[in-house]
Amino acid sequence: MSSKLGLLTICLWCLIVPNVLSQNFQIIYGQKSYTQLEPGNVNILISTPHDGQLQPATITTRTNDVLGNLVGDTNTGLIARAIRDELQRLFLVNKNVVARPYLVANNLVRAKMDPNRNSSECCYNYAGEDSGLAFNDYHQTFIQGKFGSYMASNSYKLGLIVDVHGQAHPEGWIEVGYIIDPSNFPNPVLSEKLASRSSLNHLRQYSSQSLETLVRGSKYSFGDIVTQKFGYKITPSPSYPNPFNTKYYNGGPITQMYTSDQFKSFKLAGFQMELPQALRFGSNSTLTTIGQNLASCIYDYYWLHSFDAKI
Ligand SMILES: [Zn+2]
Repeated sequence: MSSKLGLLTICLWCLIVPNVLSQNFQIIYGQKSYTQLEPGNVNILISTPHDGQLQPATITTRTNDVLGNLVGDTNTGLIARAIRDELQRLFLVNKNVVARPYLVANNLVRAKMDPNRNSSECCYNYAGEDSGLAFNDYHQTFIQGKFGSYMASNSYKLGLIVDVHGQAHPEGWIEVGYIIDPSNFPNPVLSEKLASRSSLNHLRQYSSQSLETLVRGSKYSFGDIVTQKFGYKITPSPSYPNPFNTKYYNGGPITQMYTSDQFKSFKLAGFQMELPQALRFGSNSTLTTIGQNLASCIYDYYWLHSFDAKI
């Protein structure tokens, strides 16, 4: 290394390291560590509600679920953190900024508490057991409180939410949920009337692209970015535009609530990302690479749609 290059490298780190150290990225735990927030400093929220391991006997196990889903989403926590870490690396390498996405995690097994349900469905006894406190920590303390106060003190037009899940559907594709009823997908063009209730509502308001293009068009849809960069099978996308009449999750309460017009505290757009088994099972390094690949797509999506824009 030449002395000039060495000096440049040292100076770069002089700028970056104090910035990193001044950020408070310490994990914040909810009641009894049943949930946790891994704080960040950019307008991206990664949610991982279904890969908790704790099964305290003091919380009654749920035996019924509105969708019949009581089993966790194996390895989505590891993949979500790989996504977060890679996004931070990409911001640093490409933009020379320390930008760490927020990550919120449920540490309870889904049969004890499900953050991707409403308060009457999340828990066996929402008001009477610690599961209710954990549910409130996930939503009120962490997303609405901590992430919300970050959004309130920064003037982004909107933030990006990615709610990370896993499924075992036979199609084996990544399912991207935009809160659009699947019965609309056979139509050659999605009606703009669907935009206001979709999870891209706020993005659609700022974008010059149609809802159709944002959801399954070339270049602008998350599905096409993933297809072009890594060839993963993903729906909706130009390759697989119509998941109607298949097993397909179109997005749950977390995605719906925080992207809705009814939610007034801050504006988010984004999607639920349901990963197939083929992308969730393997060595830690394989899963980390998958997370890094997905992060690369999310990073492109963030800049393509100007999520960095301020009011
Ligand atoms: Zn899930």
